[in-house]
Amino acid sequence: MIEFKNVSLTYPNGHQGLKNINLTINDGEFIVVVGLSGAGKSTLIRSINRLVTPTEGELLVDGEDILKYNERKLRKLRTKAGMIFQNYNLVNRMSVLRNVLAGRLGHTGTIRSMLGMFPQEDVKLALDNLDRVGIMNKAYERADRLSGGQQQRVSIARVVTQKPSVILADEPVASLDPPTSHVVMKDLKRISREDNLTTLVNLHFIDMAQEYADRIIGLRDGEVVFDGPADQVTEKTFEDIYGRPIKEDDLLGGDE
Ligand code: ADP
Repeated sequence: MIEFKNVSLTYPNGHQGLKNINLTINDGEFIVVVGLSGAGKSTLIRSINRLVTPTEGELLVDGEDILKYNERKLRKLRTKAGMIFQNYNLVNRMSVLRNVLAGRLGHTGTIRSMLGMFPQEDVKLALDNLDRVGIMNKAYERADRLSGGQQQRVSIARVVTQKPSVILADEPVASLDPPTSHVVMKDLKRISREDNLTTLVNLHFIDMAQEYADRIIGLRDGEVVFDGPADQVTEKTFEDIYGRPIKEDDLLGGDE
């Protein structure tokens, strides 16, 4: 369980990225965080693995306040809360399989991993996870030979190979076309379900949010302005979150 208790974050330049956030996120929930650019979506999810550090309040992950963590505990936290980025963050010149095995780095000893020696069971796990996102046949290709959608599926395989309990996905489909975006979101949702992973995804397209989320959290100027089940969300809800009428650009469109 993840609990935000009166969490605020003021950036060094004085900008308030988060304002008094109170949220409880239950194990296994699939949450989409929506809001205009600059609303604080990225700041909110990056707080959960301390890529950014809130300046006030308590942020409990499984009962422990992660704002008090030292370096050693932070490394553990980042193994438990895996991240998916808009630009995939793969090592281009390495094989797809090596990129997925990078998910084991938090578990494998440093010297072994520097030598690229991974236990056979890790290699099997990595290949199985590539199979789950439908690209096992790409395992020995260089990562940068793959299309954007395939690269994002590699990054999903990498994060689940890490065996996290939480996945944080920061605009995972913002660089992809509509059909590919749906493929990636479907893979992410299915795997999250199958492995009972708590998942937070930042998206700015409202149709995608409604289609994939169990629960939607709406942010505006660093504040939570909506929190509820996705099936209770209407166009009016989004207008309230965005503070303006919905436009065509707010929809991804495309087929599932
Ligand atoms: P979103 O993900 O919703 O686009 P962000 O969480 O990236 O929003 O940013 C929230 C606000 O905080 C924005 O106004 C942004 O400009 C500001 N911000 C983000 N990172 C920093 C930083 N390192 N220093 C100062 N302001 C920042």
